[in-house]
Amino acid sequence: MRKAFFLSALAIHLENVLLNFSFVNAIFSLRFIAISLCFCIASNVFAQNQPSRPVRCVTGSVMEKYFQKYPRDKVAFDQSQQAFQQKYEAFRRAKKDNPAQQRLNAIVTIPVVVHIVMDDPSLVTDEQVQSQLDVLNADYAGENADSVKIPAAFKSLFGKGNIRFCLAQRSPSNEPSSGITRKTSSTISIPGDSDPVKYTTMGGVDAWDVNRYLNIWVCKMGDNDLGYSFMPGLPGLSASDVGLVTAYHAFGTIGSAAAPFNKGRTATHEIGHFFNLSHTWGSNECQASCADSDFVDDTPNQNTCTYGTPSYPLTDACTGTAPGIMFMNFMDYTDDAAMCLFTAGQADRMETALSTFSDRMQLMSSNGCVPPVLYNNDVKALAVVSPSNAGIRCAANIIPRLTIRNVGASPLTSIRLNVAIDGGEPVVTNLNLNLPSLQETTLPGNAIAATAGYHSVKIYTTLPNGAADQQPFNDTATMVFSVVGNANEPLVHGFESTVFPPQGWGIANNSDVIEYNPVRATNAARSGTASVKFDNYNYQLFGKSTMLVTPQLAIPLTADSVKIAFWRAAAQYSSINSDTLEILFSSDCGQTFTSVYKKGGADLKTRPDFTTAEYIPTADEWVADTADITAFVKGRYDNIIVQFRNINGYGNNVYIDDINIYTRSLSQHLKEKGYLIAPNPTTGLLTIQHYPASSSLRGVAVYSSTGQLIWKAQYTASTALNYIPINLSHMASGIYIVQLLYTDKTITQKVLKMN
Ligand SMILES: [Zn+2]
Repeated sequence: MRKAFFLSALAIHLENVLLNFSFVNAIFSLRFIAISLCFCIASNVFAQNQPSRPVRCVTGSVMEKYFQKYPRDKVAFDQSQQAFQQKYEAFRRAKKDNPAQQRLNAIVTIPVVVHIVMDDPSLVTDEQVQSQLDVLNADYAGENADSVKIPAAFKSLFGKGNIRFCLAQRSPSNEPSSGITRKTSSTISIPGDSDPVKYTTMGGVDAWDVNRYLNIWVCKMGDNDLGYSFMPGLPGLSASDVGLVTAYHAFGTIGSAAAPFNKGRTATHEIGHFFNLSHTWGSNECQASCADSDFVDDTPNQNTCTYGTPSYPLTDACTGTAPGIMFMNFMDYTDDAAMCLFTAGQADRMETALSTFSDRMQLMSSNGCVPPVLYNNDVKALAVVSPSNAGIRCAANIIPRLTIRNVGASPLTSIRLNVAIDGGEPVVTNLNLNLPSLQETTLPGNAIAATAGYHSVKIYTTLPNGAADQQPFNDTATMVFSVVGNANEPLVHGFESTVFPPQGWGIANNSDVIEYNPVRATNAARSGTASVKFDNYNYQLFGKSTMLVTPQLAIPLTADSVKIAFWRAAAQYSSINSDTLEILFSSDCGQTFTSVYKKGGADLKTRPDFTTAEYIPTADEWVADTADITAFVKGRYDNIIVQFRNINGYGNNVYIDDINIYTRSLSQHLKEKGYLIAPNPTTGLLTIQHYPASSSLRGVAVYSSTGQLIWKAQYTASTALNYIPINLSHMASGIYIVQLLYTDKTITQKVLKMN
C-alpha cells in the first residue's frame, strides 16, 4: 500500500493556509460542543493581547492545529477519550469505597532522555538536568517541599501518585547512557507535528524509542513559549513527535533556568498533558467558560487561566465563593513558585493514562532505568560500506569494508573479518587494531575478485580478541551489489528472460532501501510479457535514484552515430509529485556519468490524467523515445555503459522496455560526395541521403528512361531534408533518372529498378 500520509498532510496544510481561521474555529467549536470530551480551541487570545508575557503552554493550540490537519485523528482521539473517561470514572467510583486504593499498585519509574539542542548545549549542565528530575519526582510523589503552601481547604485533595522518573541508564541500542544528549544547533522548536527540534535531519535530535523512553527536548522556543506536549491517543501522530519540548530557561531550577519559571514546573505541567491531563479550566485556551471541564472530579470549576502569583483565596465566575479556584494547581498557568499540587483525581487520571493508553503503557515495562551489562568481547557489525548498492562497477577486485562497533567492555585488539559472496566460502582477513569500548571503526578485508552479475555479500566478524564473541547474533551485515559485464552493440533487450537484472546488466539505488531497486514487471510490456519498473509509488524517497545499467558496450570509433532507442510509459500522481527519468553514459566504468536525456513530470508522462492508483500502463500508453548521444561519444570512446536513472518524486511508476542501443556507419560515398542515392539497384524503396543536411537542395525529380516525369518534390533552405524516401515499387523494371537540383548545381544519376 502506498504510504500517502505525508502527501495528504501537505495538501491539507495548503488548504488550511487558504481557509479563514475564525471559520475553522467555529467549525471545530461546534464539533467540540457536540462531543462532550473534547479539546475546545481558540486562537491564542492571550498571546495576541499581551505578546510580551511568556506563553506558559502551547499544548492547546498545538492540538488544535493538529486536528485541523488530521481530522481523522480528531475522531479517533475523541473516541479514545470517551473510553478513557469511563475507565477513569469507574476507578474513581471504586476509590470512594476504598480510599487507600491506588491506580498503580507500585511505583513505576519512567526512563527519561533529555535532548539539549542549543547553540551552546553546555549551558544546560548535567546538574541542571538532575534538578529537573528531582522536581518531577517530588511533584509526582506529592513530596515537594512547597506543598506546605497548599491551603487547608485543598489539603485533603493533595495527590501523591506512584509515577517516578529516572534519567535513562541505557541507550536504545542498550549501551550505557547518561540519559542526556547534547547537540550544537541553532534549530529552534516550531511547536506542532514534525517539530524540527525532534528531527536530526532538521537540525534537531531524533526521538529515542518512544515506547521505552519519555523524550524531553530542551531548546529555544519562539514567541515566548515555555513548552508543549502532545496528549495520548493520536494514532496518526508520528512516533518521532511523541514527548515534550521545554524552553531552556524554563527547565530545572539552576543554571539557565530563569525566574519566574525556574522551579521546574514547566516539565511537571507538560508531563501532565503527556499523561492526559487538561488545564484546570478545561481544554480551551484561556477562554472564559464554566461549561468547559478538565474532566477531573476534584478540581474546582474554573472560568479561565490564571497568571502570576495570585493571593488566596481567588474566586471567579464559575466558583464564586471561598476557597475559590485552585490557581496553585500544576495545570494552571501561574508562576512556578505559585504552583504546588496535583489533586488525587489528577494523579489517578495520569496513572490511568499510563496504564491504559497504548502509546503510553509500554513505558511501564521499559528497562531504560537499568544500566546494561557489557560483555567483555562483543563486536557489532553496523554496515557494509563496500561493496555498495549505491553504484555500479565493472568487473574488478573489490575491497570489502565493514563498519563495526566495539560494544564489549574490553578494548578490541584483534578481529577476523569473513567475507562471503553469494553464499560461498568466506574469504578471511585477520586484523589487529586498537578500538576502545563503545567506539566505531571501518575495517578493510582482503581484495576479492568480483565477476559480472548481481551479488549478495555477507560480512561477519569472529574471534574478537582471539575469543568467542559473547553476543554472536549482532556480528553480521549484508549488502547487494552489481558488477556489469561486456557486450557488443547493438544491444537489444526486452527483459523477457526471468533473470533480472539480465546477465551483464546492473541495478542499484542510492537510498538505504535495497527493495527500491528497479524490478522486472510482468504486468506491463511494450512487447512480449515484461518490462522494467521504477517504483515511485510505494517508496517515498524524494530525490533518491534507482538505476538500471547496461553492460559495458564496445562502440566502433568509426561509428558515425550512436543512439539509445527505448520505449517508456509513465503517469503522474499529482502536479506536485513529479518523478524524473534520466539517461547517462559513462566511459570510465561508472566512476563519472554524463547526462544525455532528462524528462520529468508532465514531459515524462505518457498517460494524460493524474493517476492516484498504482500505475500500470495500457498498450497504447507506451511511447517511443530516443537519446542521440553521437555528439558525446562519436570517435571519442570505444566503450560506454549506459544508465537509465529514475529520480523519485513520490509520484507514480515509470516503465521502460525494448531498449536498443546501436551505432550507424555511413557509406564512404555519402561521406565523400555529401549525397547518396541508394540502394541501386532497388526493388522499390529508394532513399536520398545528404550528409550533412543540405540547405541548397531545391528539388528532386525522377524521370523514366523515355523522359517522362514520374515523381518530384521541391524544397527551401529550411525544408531540405537529409533523408528523402521515394517509393518506386509500383513502377515497371528498367532504368530511371534521378535528378537533384541545388541552387548552384544539378546532379543526375541512373537507377536500376528490378522486380
Ligand atoms: Zn498546558
